[in-house]
This record gives sequence, C-alpha cells and structure tokens, in this order.
Amino acid sequence: MVKLIFLLTREIIKNKMNIYKEGLERYPKVIIFWGNFLIILWILLGTIACRFFCPLIALIYLLFAVAMIGFVLRKLLCTNCYYYKRRCSLGWGKLSALFFKGGSIEKFNAGYGQKLASLTYGLLTVIPVIFIGILISQEFVIFKVIILILLLVVSIYSGVINRKKTCLKCKMRLICPGCAVKQS
Ligand code: SF4
Repeated sequence: MVKLIFLLTREIIKNKMNIYKEGLERYPKVIIFWGNFLIILWILLGTIACRFFCPLIALIYLLFAVAMIGFVLRKLLCTNCYYYKRRCSLGWGKLSALFFKGGSIEKFNAGYGQKLASLTYGLLTVIPVIFIGILISQEFVIFKVIILILLLVVSIYSGVINRKKTCLKCKMRLICPGCAVKQS
C-alpha cells in the first residue's frame, strides 16, 4: 500500500515537473564511459598544466575537481534529479545514490547547485589555461603548447559538443537550466 502511494506520488510529481517523455530512461554504457573518459582527461590535462607552474597548485586543482565533481555537485544536483538511482548520461545518478539520500525533483533548481556546476567547470578550464599561458609567454615550449591545445579541445568538446548530444535525450531537459539544447 505504502509502495503504491509512493509510486503514485512520484508519477504526479513527474507529470507536474514536466519531465521530457521522449528522454532516455537509461543511457547506454558506451555513452557513460565516453562522457566520464572525457571529464577525467580534462582534469588530467588541467593537473599537468598546473603542475608545470607549481606542484602544490596542481594538487589543490586535482582535489578541488574530485571534491566538487565527485561529491558536492552530486549531493546538490543528482539527489534531486529524475536520474537519481538511474543511469543518466554520466552514470552519476547511480554514484550519488551510493553516498546520499534522495531528494525531490521540485528542489532540482532550488539552491546554488546549478551556479556551482557552471563555476566549477569554468574554473577547471580557466585556471590551468592561465597558469600554462603565463609559462608559455615567458618561454615557448612546444610540449606546453600541446597540453594547452589539448586542454582547450577536450574541455570544449566535453562541455559543449558531447553535452549537447546527451542533453538532447535527457528526461530533465525541460527542467534543467544547464541544458545545452534550446527548448522548442
Ligand atoms: S543527469 Fe546530471 S544531475 Fe541528473 S543524475 Fe545525471 S549528472 Fe546528476
């Protein structure tokens, strides 16, 4: 009886919250693998770029990335997402369920989770680009230029092109302000 009431309530909230019905219930593993691979590569290139400048800054950058992407944003966003306990485009709905209690979709846009997400991904590119840019302006080293170019290519591909592809099929695309596809 309790389960029936729970399922009914969830259906009412889903309908009320404008869930994108054509969206995928669960994303294929290959998309999840590719999305995570790109983000790990992004953080790795950023860490290498910071390492050229100062090992301590590289460590702080890496710890910041892991703490924000692995925990803080999962707590603030994924616990209130339709994909909580489900396989979203990054699989983080399942990851967040390992650490945090679920919330409700109505709270998805409440609080500062969305703003923190944009700030986090922005900093993960801007910080290493500034540091390696300073070094290249002082001394032109081809390997550092390659790292800079790779960092820009991977972060733009992951943060814009690949995200657009996954947002297209996302159940949250009508609710999520961070959605990369224009709503028709
Ligand atoms: S779609 Fe985004 S907010 Fe929702 S569970 Fe996946 S990573 Fe978290």
